[in-house]
Amino acid sequence: MPTPPLGSHEESALTVTKAFCTWGEVHAKGNVSSVPFGLDSYAEMDFVSIEFVRSQGLKPCNRKNHSHKIPSIEAAGCLAIKTYGVYHLHCTITDRWGRQFSFARPFVAMDRDPEDAPILLGRPALQEFRIVLVNSTMDWEFERKKKVTEYSTKRFKRMLRKSPVQLYEIRACLTLPDLPSESPSPNTWKQCLARIQQLKKNSKPLPTFGTYDQHFRRRRR
Ligand SMILES: [Zn+2]
Repeated sequence: MPTPPLGSHEESALTVTKAFCTWGEVHAKGNVSSVPFGLDSYAEMDFVSIEFVRSQGLKPCNRKNHSHKIPSIEAAGCLAIKTYGVYHLHCTITDRWGRQFSFARPFVAMDRDPEDAPILLGRPALQEFRIVLVNSTMDWEFERKKKVTEYSTKRFKRMLRKSPVQLYEIRACLTLPDLPSESPSPNTWKQCLARIQQLKKNSKPLPTFGTYDQHFRRRRR
């Protein structure tokens, strides 16, 4: 298999990208602290800085029925790292759409660099809370359930008459080629439809408008 060329600067340069981080709240002893939360899909457990929990006056969990067993944890290139017990934290995080979620969860306490986020949501929390990391924009959100139901025009009209539901319209952002007459750009879907029909009359069929055409036709009935 041929190796890719390493000639250009872009291909050979090392890149440093900021770690995934979000702000959240920790509720402890009647106080609310706003702190950064690291989101790390490579971490196999959820961690908290020992300095942070001590500063909050929290004590490690020693409930017998919890019987927390901390496995041996190794950091990259290091020997086993020291841990300081398990702390239950009450936290609130908010995703990029403003959806808030509060939870209580055990974290393994360890030494963390003061420069790093004191709380690290690793794979367990990311998986359980269905957190989706958007790498391109460094955003995150709770996974959304998408549900699409198709209704007949008749049923849709009946539904609208029966219940005072809010109705949203999805508009296709079409960039249509200018007509020879240089008419102004269409602003509404009705104008779009008129424009498409005019284009269809004046020219050969435009296959790329097929979907929209059908959509608009359905709306007109
Ligand atoms: Zn516990």
